[in-house]
Amino acid sequence: MTDAAPACPDCASEFSYERGDLLVCSMCGHEWSPSAEAAADAAPVIRDAVGNVLADGDTVTVIKDLKVKGSSSGIKVGTKVRNIRLVNGVGDHDIDCKVDGVGPMQLKSSVVKKA
Ligand SMILES: [Zn+2]
Repeated sequence: MTDAAPACPDCASEFSYERGDLLVCSMCGHEWSPSAEAAADAAPVIRDAVGNVLADGDTVTVIKDLKVKGSSSGIKVGTKVRNIRLVNGVGDHDIDCKVDGVGPMQLKSSVVKKA
């Protein structure tokens, strides 16, 4: 906490001080969050079955047969799913995607592996 205060992103002044979770510039009054990156780090990280961190737009491979409601075939092991989107889905489902031949659906990150 004794580190030099970060410069104000607005006027580059170093005379900033902490107020709660924010930093406040005493020169121009600008208030900002200490680090946008820190905020991003705080977001839940979604990992695949082997621990790779997943991101929006990733391509993943399904690692086990999945039954799909309303589909007789379901999703087979090895099915590639392109352009996933990370979501706070229903239950443990944290991937929103469209599976070829099956359609839009949500998957659990525990059943996929980053391709
Ligand atoms: Zn400032």
